[in-house]
Order: sequence, then structure tokens, then C-alpha cells
Amino acid sequence: MEDSSGFLTTNIKSLDTVFLENRNDRMDYMFLRGETNLQEDFYSYRDRKENLIFMKIGIADWNELQEQYAGEICEKTYQRFCENINMLYQNQVRLYTTQRGEVFLLGDSNLDAKMLFTRIEKEDTKQQYLEETMLYYSLYAGYVEIAVERETYQSARKKLEFACKCAWLDGNGQITVFQEERYEKYLRKLSMKEQLKYDVAHDFQGFEVYYQPIVSGDTKEVSGAEALLRWKSQKYGMVSPAEFIPVLEQTGLIVPVGKWVLYTAICQCKEWQRYRKEFRMNINLSHIQLKQSDVSRDLIKDLKECKLDSKYIMLELTESGRVEKDSAVRHMIKHLQKMKVKLAIDDFGTGYSNFCYLKDLKVHIIKIDRTFVANSLASEYQYKLLRHIIEMAHGVQLQVCLEGIESEKELEKVSPLKPDYIQGYLFGHPVDAAAFLEKNLLRYIEEVEVK
Ligand code: C2E
Ligand code: CA
Ligand code: CA
Repeated sequence: MEDSSGFLTTNIKSLDTVFLENRNDRMDYMFLRGETNLQEDFYSYRDRKENLIFMKIGIADWNELQEQYAGEICEKTYQRFCENINMLYQNQVRLYTTQRGEVFLLGDSNLDAKMLFTRIEKEDTKQQYLEETMLYYSLYAGYVEIAVERETYQSARKKLEFACKCAWLDGNGQITVFQEERYEKYLRKLSMKEQLKYDVAHDFQGFEVYYQPIVSGDTKEVSGAEALLRWKSQKYGMVSPAEFIPVLEQTGLIVPVGKWVLYTAICQCKEWQRYRKEFRMNINLSHIQLKQSDVSRDLIKDLKECKLDSKYIMLELTESGRVEKDSAVRHMIKHLQKMKVKLAIDDFGTGYSNFCYLKDLKVHIIKIDRTFVANSLASEYQYKLLRHIIEMAHGVQLQVCLEGIESEKELEKVSPLKPDYIQGYLFGHPVDAAAFLEKNLLRYIEEVEVK
């Protein structure tokens, strides 16, 4: 939701500065009313028992324009903008302002907001040819249809601001109607953000590390595990990592949480080596962690504290596209390699990872994503491709882990390809530490005791 690139590239308008001569012009036009009127008029629709269209049109990047141009130019720009709307739609809407750069509109439910916006844009474009151009800007707009008897002004205003935010995020000088589903998702994300902050600050409450077995391609014996983060929200229950990890990344909380996972998983690895001497732990690292924290320092400290050799740790790099481009991240990776920590490229075969990354980042393993593996079972071409990828990887001493093997049939099909490691529900779902021990390691206890 954060990316807004390209917003000002389309729908460029212009405005001349002829009005500058009337320097003392003020904005108190009869047609432009203030916040109090806006609220009063909003509630007047209750008596009329009618729905209303609540709309806002704004000049994009108004603050930037103010930085660049003299106050009078901006003032005139805004005047012209409001006058245009008033001139075109005075019979259909009422206009209100709370601050420069934007205007609120109230209209009846039959108002065609999209048409209105298109006409206003056209009107501005026309002026570009009439007078000498000075100031360039584009417009955005949001609107929402409100059943006033069920809605307060404050909540309607929040919805409208959200529609405008969406217009801004969607780019291209958009007009966007309020979308309830998108708003719900946004509110859920906001609430999740607050809960995550709270849980991190309260000793990582609600967080847990689950473990999924990784087995040897030959023997199918458990060689290690991948540590997978889980979060149980007090409000929403178990939330998928696909949903909460991006929030952790956006807020930077992935740094403390990632540190916590690193420590927890390293201690767990040491503990499980009592059952499997060579037990290894795979830990996911976000590019944000690599960029914003000293992963190698944390790792040295944790390994020392847990008395574990670095060779038993495999760090899985996600979103390697960004890993590749960022020099600070590359520097950190080089440092980790010097420490003899093994690296894996995760989700190989999806949009994020491909062979380009392998030439610079000296990794040990590629983990081929489940979608790729599943496709190769359905199509002969994909199967051949998978075989060649594995052969190519082996040719340059890279090991391969196939992810997402769910059935015996799948296992039968991929086994001739000789992957070094296999991971998937067939060998075990991610489970908590106690369940992992019971399912995967207790059977080795006798071996350990005999030795
Ligand atoms: P990933 O690293 O690719 O992890 C493998 C995902 O595939 C896990 O999803 C796992 O439960 C799922 N999986 C394993 N075997 C199978 C199978 O046979 N079939 C299917 N359909 N799925 C299978 P999960 O646990 O939901 O994690 C999703 C992603 O969240 C992970 O993908 C990883 O990118 C991220 N993640 C999880 N824990 C961490 C963490 O501690 N730090 C960071 N940075 N990212 C994490
Ligand atoms: Ca992974
Ligand atoms: Ca993966």
C-alpha cells in the first residue's frame, strides 16, 4: 500500500499567473464554506432521509507545490481550481474547504462523481492552451455514498479520506470510490500493527517458533528443521505469516523479532543435537534484518552462548531480488560467509529468485519453491526443466532442497531427480518444539544412548 511512484506523471494540468495582479484576493467566496457548515449540511441529509455523495477533490502534492512556488501563485491556483468546480457544478454540489489544496463536496446520491471529476480535469487542461503556463499539477479524488441516518460525520470523513488515500496509491490522477472490503483490510492491518508492537514489547508474547523437518533426499532421515515463525493475535487468533511478516517488515519490528527467532532456533538446534549429532537448523532472514541490524554480531553472540558451531546454521534469504541490489546487504552476506554460515536461496523458481543471484552470492543450497515442484508434476516440460535445474546446480556444487512435497506420488516422481534434501507435509507439517521432538527425534534417543 505504500508505493505511490508515478503519481504525478499523468494528467498534468497547468495554470497561468494572470491572477497574481489581484494580490489581495481572499478565499472567502460565498460558495466556499467551512468545516462547521460541512458538518451541519452533512446531517441535514438525515432529515431528508436521503443518501448523499461525500466527495473530496485535491491538488496532488500540494505541499510540494507550496515549497516550490510563491504563496500567491498557490493561492490563485487553488482559487481557480475551486471556481472551476463551482462554475461547472454549482447546481449539483456544495463546496467546503478546511484547508488549501483540497475541497469537499456534498451532492445528492444521483450525482455522477466520476463524470464530475473528468469534466473538472478537462476544464483545467483547456486553460493550458488559453494562457501562458506556469504551474503544473494533477488532481485526485475520492468519494463515498453515505446513508446518513446510520453514519456519523466522523466515520464518513474517515471513509472519504481512505478513498482519497487509495486514489493516491492507485496513481494516475485517479478518482476512487470507497471500497468497504479494502477498508476492512486496512483497519485490520492497522490494528495488527498495534498488537504486534505491544506483543514485541511484552517479551514476544503470542510469538512462537515452529519447526518443520527437512529430510535427506537419499535416506529420507531427518537432517534438520526449518524454523518458521508463528503469531497468535489476541484479537484475530492464529495469523498467517504471509499476513503478519510484511507488517513486521514495514514497521521494522522484524529486527527484534528476527533476533529472537535466531536465538530461539539456535538454542533449539543445540538442544536437538543430543538426539541427532549433526542436526541442522534453517532460519529465515528478511532483507530488512540484513539491512537494519548486525546479523553477524547477533549470530556470533548466540552461537557462543548456545555453544553451537556455525556450520549447523543455514540462513535462508528471502526476497533475494532486493538482497542482490543493496550493497550494505551484500556486505553483510560476505561477512556471514566468512563466518562459515551456510546460505540458502529460498523460493527458487518464483519471481524473486533466479540464476542471476547465484553468480555473486555464493550460496550452498537452492530451495526450489513448491509451485515449481507442483507444476513439474503436471507438465512434462516443467519436469524436464526441474531436472535440468537440479543438474545445473549440482554441476556447480550447489545443493538442492525441494520444497512442498505433499504425497507419496510426488515423492516417487521427484526422487529420480536426486534432490539433496526434501521438505514438505509428507514428512511433517511445521509444529511446535515439543511435537517436533516427539515426532522426529525421540526415536533416535536409543542410538545416542548406545553410543
Ligand atoms: P518459506 O520460507 O518458503 O517457508 C515454507 C512455507 O511453506 C511455510 O509456510 C510452510 O508451512 C509451507 N510448507 C511447507 N511444506 C509444505 C507443503 O508440503 N505444502 C504446502 N502447501 N506448504 C508447505 P509458512 O510457515 O506459512 O511461512 C510462510 C513464509 O513466511 C515463509 O515461507 C517465510 O518466507 C516467511 N517466514 C516464516 N517464518 C519466518 C521468520 O522467522 N523470518 C522471516 N523473515 N520470514 C519467515
Ligand atoms: Ca524459508
Ligand atoms: Ca520457500
